[in-house]
Amino acid sequence: MPEIYGKLYSHTFERSMMGAGPVVFATWAWVLSHAGYRDLVNLNPKTLAQQIGCTTEEIERSLEYLCGPDDYSSSPVLDGARLERTGPYEYRVINLGKYNSGSDDIKYREQATERQRRKRRRDAGLCESDGCERPPVSGAHVCSEHAFTVENQ
Ligand SMILES: [Zn+2]
Repeated sequence: MPEIYGKLYSHTFERSMMGAGPVVFATWAWVLSHAGYRDLVNLNPKTLAQQIGCTTEEIERSLEYLCGPDDYSSSPVLDGARLERTGPYEYRVINLGKYNSGSDDIKYREQATERQRRKRRRDAGLCESDGCERPPVSGAHVCSEHAFTVENQ
């Protein structure tokens, strides 16, 4: 699994969450960094309180704030709330794509890794299918057995 991360926009401090308090910002940074390319995060307020260095109650208040309406948001979804509680310890980041275009970077890196893997196997004279020790069919990147099972890219 690739290392996950999130992007934090500078306008978060100047507009929508201005003056919300350090724990709200810390909680939001935690959520974005853990959301990665999924929009659901598993989040235990007790664990967050330990990691951030505050009380569990402060984390719970921050989560309430982040699940509340955002007057500055142009999103009509849930009055512009940033988070939606979907389970006892599960939250959905609303509009993750808006906050986190980093998910494209992760996809790009995964594709680049896959291209490198295929190139290494081609350079070694092997079929591109992982673990296959046969040489590729002349003019192709895979052996006769994998010719119809490996996606051509
Ligand atoms: Zn093969």
